[in-house]
Formats: sequence, structure tokens, C-alpha cells
Amino acid sequence: MTFRISAPWWPLLALASPLLVPILLVRNRRFRKNRNQAHQLNLERINKAASLALPELEFLDVTVLSEWASEEGFMGEPGVSYLLRTDQGSLLYDVGFGPSRPTLAHNATKLGVSLDQVDALAISHLHMDHMGGMKAGRSKQVMVPNELGAPGGKPCFLPDEAGAEGFAAEVVKGPRLLTAGIASIGPLARSLFFLGWTEEQALLARIKDKGLVIFTGCGHPTIEVILQMVGRLSDQPIHAIGGGLHFPITSGRGKYRGIQMQMILGTGKPPWQRITDDDLSKTIRSINAAGPERVFLSAHDTCDYALRRFANELKAETKVLRAGATYRISA
Ligand SMILES: [Zn+2]
Ligand SMILES: [Zn+2]
Repeated sequence: MTFRISAPWWPLLALASPLLVPILLVRNRRFRKNRNQAHQLNLERINKAASLALPELEFLDVTVLSEWASEEGFMGEPGVSYLLRTDQGSLLYDVGFGPSRPTLAHNATKLGVSLDQVDALAISHLHMDHMGGMKAGRSKQVMVPNELGAPGGKPCFLPDEAGAEGFAAEVVKGPRLLTAGIASIGPLARSLFFLGWTEEQALLARIKDKGLVIFTGCGHPTIEVILQMVGRLSDQPIHAIGGGLHFPITSGRGKYRGIQMQMILGTGKPPWQRITDDDLSKTIRSINAAGPERVFLSAHDTCDYALRRFANELKAETKVLRAGATYRISA
């Protein structure tokens, strides 16, 4: 078993415990209250959602600009940015660690991708690995590297209140078409112990003769809840699921000073509980029940052990998304 907090920290934690324990208990009360409220709100949102008129797309190309895994010559980071191109246009989904790390600028430049070629930006959720880095997360301002060119007032579709300099920021209130024939399933909430109330929007597209394609950010609302919402929006079969599912079971990406941040933050559990093999088994069953033919796994928030279990136990053809690669889904 890996320790989520390495041994040198333990004496300090023991010393700080008279102070730490009451803080954690107060946080836990808020976390549990939010958890119930998020569950209730998601149920209401799902119940009131109506069928969406999704256009039949000829193809969807997903070009990975930022990911943990990368092709030769490209950089990787524990953040996410995907460029989605269809026969109706293009949408950039998330901007990884943005200008705070060299990854996105390097990979986009190498691929010749700039904001000129993008109709709009959509941010899955307001965490630093999706909205442009730590400074972006703290100031609630989406940040894009200058190398990508000027945003030129294009829309930035957000799951919750935030700014995006140079873009026309717009909070998505519920399921709707965004651009390029791609829809947002609307924000779905999750209570996170340290990161607090988190709204995340997954993307949905319909490919001719194939069915639905779903892309998530970190997958915080859980794929189970996302699939429930998608079931209300369309009766088409689910062809593909891609993006983050958040399974740091044996380790996390981006260990910080001996602390496995991903195994503690963003898990949807209190810090004294782990994401377990049983949790993963349940999610694998849910995905198999949804019956996609293809699954594109994000390694940015899922450990190698969990990726192997997904690959072995999912009935779908699985691939790990790699920065620099393009994945085509077509009629
Ligand atoms: Zn993430
Ligand atoms: Zn996240």
C-alpha cells in the first residue's frame, strides 16, 4: 500500500493534530451538507432535463493538446486540453495548466493549433489543471498561453461563475448546444472535501451511424451521474466515452513534497478515506452497462494500476489519450 502522506510528515501531523482535528471536523460537516445538496440538485437537474436536438455529425476529431501521457516529441502534464473538430466547426475543451507550464504552448505550437482555428472555448470545471494553472484557479480567471494567439472575444462556456480575459465568458445553466454541433450536458455538482463545491460540464456529440460521444474533464460528478443525464438528453446508443474519471488508487499524478495530492484532493471522500478497488469495480460495471464501443482514458487523474484494470475489464476498446495524437470518430 502506498502512503498518501510520506513518513517525514507524520511527526508534524501528530504535533498539529490538536489543531488539525477540529478543523477537519468542521470541514467534514460542510462537506457532508454539500454532498447531500449536490446529490439533490443533480437529481432535480436530471429529472427536469429534456431531449436535446443533437445534429448528426459526420465526424469528430479529438486532438489532445495537454495530457499526462504524450507522443514522442510532445510534452505531458497532469492537466487536460482537447481540441474537438467536427464537420460543423471546432471547440477547445479546457486549457490544462495554461501559461503556468510550457506544455500547452509547446504542444499547440508543434501541432500548429491556435485560437484562430477555434470557434469557442469550453471549460469543464474550475480546477487549476483545466482552467490554466494555480493562479487561474485562485483568481477564478481562465488563463490561456499567449502562444495560442488572441481570443478575439470568442465565447468561453463556463460551468460556474468565473472570468476569461479576451473571451466572452458565459455560464452554462443547463444542457444546450454550444458550437460545432457539440453540446454541454450542463453543470453537475460534486462536493469535494478540500476543493469545495465543484460544478463540472461534460460534452456530448452525436456521430452519424455511431451514436453518442461523451467527453469529461476530471469526471468529478462521477460517470454514473453523467450517464444518467445523457440518458435524459438522447435515446441514441453510447458509442464512446472519453476524458478523466478520477481514479488515483495506488498513486496520483504530480506528488507534491511527499504528498499524493490527487489521492486526497478531489476524491469526493473525506481525507481519511481512499478511492478503492471496489469503487473502480462499480464504475467499470456502470460503463460496461452503458455499452460504449470505445473508451478514451485520461491518465491525468487516473493511476497506471487503474488504467490497466479499465483496459482489462472494460468490454469496449480502450485507449489512453496521448498529447499530440488525434482520435477520429466518424460515420
Ligand atoms: Zn483534472
Ligand atoms: Zn478537478
